Amino acid sequence: MPSLSTSSVLVYAAPMRHRFRGITTREGLLLRGEAGWGEFCPFAEYSDAESVPWLASAVEAGERGWPEPVRDRVPVNATVPVLSPERAHELVAASGCRTAKVKVAGAGTTLSEDCDRVAAVRSALGPGGAIRVDANMAWEVDEAVHAIRELDRAAGGLEYAEQPCASIEELAAVRRRVDVRIAADESIRRAEDPLKVAVAGAADVAVIKVAPLGGVRRALRVAEACGLPCVVSSAVESSVGLAAGLALAGALPSLDFACGLGTAALLTDDVTSTPLSPVDGYLPVPRRAPEPDRFEAVRADDARRAWWLDRLARVQPIQAAANRS
Ligand SMILES: [Mg+2]
Repeated sequence: MPSLSTSSVLVYAAPMRHRFRGITTREGLLLRGEAGWGEFCPFAEYSDAESVPWLASAVEAGERGWPEPVRDRVPVNATVPVLSPERAHELVAASGCRTAKVKVAGAGTTLSEDCDRVAAVRSALGPGGAIRVDANMAWEVDEAVHAIRELDRAAGGLEYAEQPCASIEELAAVRRRVDVRIAADESIRRAEDPLKVAVAGAADVAVIKVAPLGGVRRALRVAEACGLPCVVSSAVESSVGLAAGLALAGALPSLDFACGLGTAALLTDDVTSTPLSPVDGYLPVPRRAPEPDRFEAVRADDARRAWWLDRLARVQPIQAAANRS
């Protein structure tokens, strides 16, 4: 890989509409190569080693571009945070999406509140819509079995329950006891993980993200190797990073579920005047990332820029060496 000049490196800091993973500002670094822009945005607490695939993904976008897609648009889900049933109904009705992902088991909430929210989402979607719930590892096995059954009833049928418990063994135990499909998300962060999940019988669906898996091509190989239907989700990137997720969703040989890529609006501002915002529940599959022509609106301050450039300088040689081996 030719070394990147710092003139083609932009560092953004975009405020988030709601607190997410304990952060209120999403930061990342955009880099430009011959093929276009790529985004490098591992979360701040990630080690340099964990950040390597994220850089590989950005370098793929910048230097090589993405494989040919097999579809030109991708259905996406609406995301329903912990809200009142009324607000959840409004959000889903306004989204235009036919699939909603409802966050459940949030801190300080009860199962009956989750059931009420899920029922409100069903009334907004109608019988033809799909509802999935995401517990983000909150439950023990027995608790998960009980909650999934209750939520399935309240929803009039769940499409799947995402990461009800933390470990692969627990997911497998829950999956044996419920009729609802189980999806693995947090259990899949490295290229080897989806295979482990599949071999353990822990999930029916794999949630895959392009950056932690090291780019579109590597994620496609991982998807094929695990043999599970895949849902492509974002890591709440700017539209430059979302474009890589869409390239993956566009290139998967089959796509049976809506993807979690409609997340641009979680940031109050984007780096581009052509953000990847869903229309009627779909996003287009772009051939390259949008131009960061509104970057000034979210330019990071000098201290954060220096932090990201330093991180890039540390991770780049590790990534380049891994690429050669
Ligand atoms: Mg999830």
